Amino acid sequence: MEKSKIVSFWKEIEQAKRIAIGGHIRPDGDCVGSCMGLYHYIREQFPEKQVQVYLGEFPDSFRLLEGVEQFIKPVKQQMEEAEEGQAWDLFVALDSSNLERLEFAPVFQKAVRTVCIDHHITNEGYAMMNLVFTSSSTAEAIYDVIQGRNEKGEERPVSKAAAEALYMGIVHDTGVFKHSCTTRHTMEVAGALMERGVDTSRMIDDTFYRKSYVQNQILGQALLNSVLWEQGSVISTAVFATDFEKYHAGKTDLDGIVDQLRITRGVEVAVFAYETEEDSFKFSMRSNSKVDVSTIAMQFGGGGHVRAAGCTISGTYEKGLQQLLEEIRKQL
Ligand code: 5GP
Ligand code: MN
Repeated sequence: MEKSKIVSFWKEIEQAKRIAIGGHIRPDGDCVGSCMGLYHYIREQFPEKQVQVYLGEFPDSFRLLEGVEQFIKPVKQQMEEAEEGQAWDLFVALDSSNLERLEFAPVFQKAVRTVCIDHHITNEGYAMMNLVFTSSSTAEAIYDVIQGRNEKGEERPVSKAAAEALYMGIVHDTGVFKHSCTTRHTMEVAGALMERGVDTSRMIDDTFYRKSYVQNQILGQALLNSVLWEQGSVISTAVFATDFEKYHAGKTDLDGIVDQLRITRGVEVAVFAYETEEDSFKFSMRSNSKVDVSTIAMQFGGGGHVRAAGCTISGTYEKGLQQLLEEIRKQL
């Protein structure tokens, strides 16, 4: 990332009195972590500014981040309040590769100035200023944006609250430092965050590995229903509306299912889907070493990374799955 872009970003922050930060729909750990990390840093450095974070419904485990509770509100209510209220001077969109995925797109569009900070190769450059990093996570990118504020190159320490949020973001998007997006720099950033006093074991266990009974049940059901294709190199499964009802589960209870599929011996591509509305499925794809799932997702209006991508396909699950399998086969 060019230094001048980071400098321009901080100029935007300095000029704005009222700043909104928001992420993508179905917020994951990196989305919530990067939003809260940037929030804390701006609050601490510019106490005179009004800063608000817009987040959709996210897993309960992320509530351990300091200050996040104040932003938990039904999306509809947040949208109405933003519609009635004054436009934000600046909206910083994080971890969202296009406007369709940005949860509070109307609020973003109403803002006077807009910036996007992201790490998706499929980023469409939809903001007035776009900082697209090649980092493991948006949280890692935010750490670098903060460090880039210092022209002398000395470390700019972040508070424990900001460090915890950024650490959580990195942990989630790297699958606890194991995905191929994890670099030496990722580990160095994580190391710097550890020094701020982050309880790393607690962050990893409580936000990543710990599952509720309901989450375990729905994971078990999804694994029981999984099917192998292409001599075992592809695995697929789905969660339907009836499963959500049966287990009293919601879409925030599905984290980790696709990753469990991916580590099945012999599997190159894992496909996981859940019903979003009648005859519409959100597909998640993961690959291990060969298949570029981001290009496949893009063909269906989605996006993501080479090894992790997603899209929504309308029609039955079987039909959507067959369409994806056809594209996967071409790359196997
Ligand atoms: P997940 O499968 O966990 O939902 O997403 C994996 C990756 O693909 C994430 O980086 C996410 O941002 C991206 N992704 C998932 N679904 C979509 C989508 O519908 N559109 C776009 N542009 N990206 C997606
Ligand atoms: Mn991310």
